Amino acid sequence: MREQRIRKTKTVCTFCGVGCSFDVWTKGRKILKIEPTEKAPVNGISTCVKGKFGWDFVNSEERLTKPLIRRGDSFVEATWDEVLDLIAEKFQEIKRTYGPDALGFISSSKVTNEENYLMQKLARSVIGTNNVDNCSRYCQSPATDGLMRTVGLAGDSGTIQDIAKAGLVIIVGANPAEAHPVLATRVKRAHKLHGQKLIVVDLRKHEMAERADLFVRPKQGTDHVWLSAVTKYIIDQEWHDKKFLSERVVGYDEYRKSLSKYTLDYAEEITGISKADLIQIATMIHEANGVAVLWAMGVTQHCGGSETSASISDLLLVTGNYGRPGAGAFPLRGHNNVQGACDFGTLPNWLPGYQLVSDKVSRKKFEDVWGTPLPTTPGMDNQQMLNAILEGKLRGMYLVGEDMAWVDTNANHVHEALSQLEFFVVQDVFFTKTAQFADVVLPASPSLEKEGTFTNTERRIQRLYQVFEPLGESKPDWEIICAIANRLGAGWTYQHPSEIMAEAAKVAPIFAGVTYDRLEGYNSLLWPVAPDGTDTPLLYTEGFGFSDGKARLALPNWVPPMTPDEEYDLHLNNGRLLEHFHEGNMTDKSPGLRKKVPDTFVEISLELAKERGIEDGALVRLVSRYGSVKVRAVVTDRVRGKELYLPMNTTSDQSAVNLLTGSATDVRTNTPAYKETFVRMEVL
Ligand code: SF4
Repeated sequence: MREQRIRKTKTVCTFCGVGCSFDVWTKGRKILKIEPTEKAPVNGISTCVKGKFGWDFVNSEERLTKPLIRRGDSFVEATWDEVLDLIAEKFQEIKRTYGPDALGFISSSKVTNEENYLMQKLARSVIGTNNVDNCSRYCQSPATDGLMRTVGLAGDSGTIQDIAKAGLVIIVGANPAEAHPVLATRVKRAHKLHGQKLIVVDLRKHEMAERADLFVRPKQGTDHVWLSAVTKYIIDQEWHDKKFLSERVVGYDEYRKSLSKYTLDYAEEITGISKADLIQIATMIHEANGVAVLWAMGVTQHCGGSETSASISDLLLVTGNYGRPGAGAFPLRGHNNVQGACDFGTLPNWLPGYQLVSDKVSRKKFEDVWGTPLPTTPGMDNQQMLNAILEGKLRGMYLVGEDMAWVDTNANHVHEALSQLEFFVVQDVFFTKTAQFADVVLPASPSLEKEGTFTNTERRIQRLYQVFEPLGESKPDWEIICAIANRLGAGWTYQHPSEIMAEAAKVAPIFAGVTYDRLEGYNSLLWPVAPDGTDTPLLYTEGFGFSDGKARLALPNWVPPMTPDEEYDLHLNNGRLLEHFHEGNMTDKSPGLRKKVPDTFVEISLELAKERGIEDGALVRLVSRYGSVKVRAVVTDRVRGKELYLPMNTTSDQSAVNLLTGSATDVRTNTPAYKETFVRMEVL
């Protein structure tokens, strides 16, 4: 037997939107160490605990290694030929009987840009439907909507290094110290060593809140109101950037008038933030040399998430904080590759590169390259698809890399819908909760077993290289998608992901100059990339993403949040833990991380614990209108009053937060309002 060589392979971390890169040292299938390097464009020599120790799952005995077909209540192993024949037969039958829109396709940030591109191409050009969506629907679609309406592009304004250059960083509804650790380190360093000011606006006193120069706690769901009031106050003080507004923005007069009701008194009453704090926020913005606003799911996962995202962008426009270093909008994408999944078109209304499916000229470009007419009307998003299943309109679904039964809101409702599908294909690394509802389960390879590119939160496209051969009979997602397309008669001939990227570069101008050669090793490109390979670390220096180059101000429109009632009297917030990725089905199988944080818990305030006689470590049941969970209580001053916090990272049937969350969604994007959840608590 040949002695196994020690190898060093460059990869990209897929666990959060920071998108660190590093070398993986291996011998056979054993990971010897993760080694960050100064060549890494985002993180240099840093990683967090997940990036360093979160990869053992690739060798887990629980990995799927063979295709499975349902037989009654159980699954049997099958050959690739058998499952591909079955999928082609069932998809064709559903299409023939009910039409192409009876099929739905759900992609994921867990797969590469090229794989996302192929998913939407399969849906659109092979099946003939725009029913394609990805997991950004659960998190940052509202930020995309807010930015598209105001500045015309759906990406972070600048780089993570730019955030460190800002005079003032405002973090709203985000917990980067746990969810984007290396990015948080940049902010901590700039704050501690370089005089950067920090404002944190959040319900929960997390680590960044403790470090902030100003920490304010609004009532849940009221961010839009304080943002609009601060913007109005800035205008009233004549602190707005008049030159920037007159030269680069349209609609200022109408916008200014529309702010009339957002007085400091009104904002204090609605948000609970004192007038003094509102004035201090406005003053700090006025005095700062560059303001960067970072936000995440504390903003977006509300019924008014997209309106609040737009009001963040409005504030930045009014103060001239776009198009220069150390300023701008930074929606923090949860995973590396939430940004890429959207950029490469797994959305029901956008073709790759944010070209509308309803636009004839855009569509024609794709039709010419793909050689087939495309569907003209926007498809269903993943929430609409679930409802369509229950209405008998959607009959078949192909889902890649997403544990929808666990991460989508109101899990019991999702389970009911998935169980009614006539034919359901799930493709993943593990036999997930969602796979239990499938007719066919396909074994996919994780990032360490394939090549491709990922795009991080700052629009940076990076290559990952294959560290291991696919385990067992698992395959890279792009190969599986190609195989399904070809069984359906597509005749695709891709031999390597670089060919898929070359095609995307032809049809999407923002990727025009993206090539694998230019991404070799630790090289990276931030879109838009010109044909000569010039990339764009900083957006909006020349103009905004509309045809006239000017930004638009979105008129304020506060969507009041749901509120507690007598029966469900406690507000349940949720979020992430540093040690785990998503619902945890990967990091939970990395023994070190699982040992450190084996399960979730609920944070309870000191005052509520005292009032209800709850001790630290007590077992409690949380009950909402939609379900119940049992978890251990952690009594802490991180939360206050009747606010609870339940981390989402668990694979336990007992404690998953989505057994509690409801079906309300953001009014513009259908992103679930996970953060508007109310429960009662019983001590067990
Ligand atoms: Fe970097 Fe995020 Fe991975 Fe941590 S989880 S190593 S911060 S990309």
